[in-house]
Amino acid sequence: MLKVFALSCGALEFDRSLFFPGEAPGTRLVAPVSSYLVVHSKGRLIFDTGVHCDARTDPAGRLGKRIAELFKLRSGKDEDVVSQLALLELAPADIDYVACSHFHFDHCGCNASFPRAVFLAQRAELAIARSDRNRYNPKDWDLPVEYRELDGEHDVFGDGSVVLLPTPGHTAGHQSMWIRPAGGGQQFLMTADASYTREHLEKTILPGNTYDAAEMARSMEMLRNLRDRKGVTLLYGHDAEQWRALPQTTRPLF
Ligand SMILES: [Zn+2]
Ligand SMILES: [Zn+2]
Repeated sequence: MLKVFALSCGALEFDRSLFFPGEAPGTRLVAPVSSYLVVHSKGRLIFDTGVHCDARTDPAGRLGKRIAELFKLRSGKDEDVVSQLALLELAPADIDYVACSHFHFDHCGCNASFPRAVFLAQRAELAIARSDRNRYNPKDWDLPVEYRELDGEHDVFGDGSVVLLPTPGHTAGHQSMWIRPAGGGQQFLMTADASYTREHLEKTILPGNTYDAAEMARSMEMLRNLRDRKGVTLLYGHDAEQWRALPQTTRPLF
């Protein structure tokens, strides 16, 4: 059994030039923030947990002054990962794994809500976070939880159906999630921030906050190959147009 649900975690509003560094500042962009629930016969997994709810009421307190000035959280009722799970009649305690694409605030803000889960993150991402080069918010990742540190590709349930795939460059240890249903069904790959939108992938647009540009361009090339040569459907990290067209919350992707 394999089911996947796209969970809405609200949206962020910010200057377009943060996403498209070639553009002049002054135009606003609203980008969706997402989380995905995978229900497998061997367990339940959440891929990314969105922005912490406190960012609605106390943005500077939760996100820090710099991030809070750049990004405004726009989220409606129930647009956070815990509320989305509740709509599916699930509680955080029902989740066995939390896979972290990376430790930016809009991807792991609610990690602390899953103290029982095993956290799956790339070793390189954790290493940077734990070093004196850390720029991530410790409230998001420095938690008393069990981390499984991954060195490359990771087959979560051992049957090839849910694979965490390293896509470094946006950050040191960024990873995406590749869903490969048994029996040859449609494959999906949640890119997270390896490619913010389809346009980023088409034009290899590297945002200003890129950790390693050459590596990010290589990751994008790999994603394009999976899409164009293997027919994998890519679900981009922050693509408003694509997100609007996706079945969400209680309606499974498949
Ligand atoms: Zn990011
Ligand atoms: Zn992001």
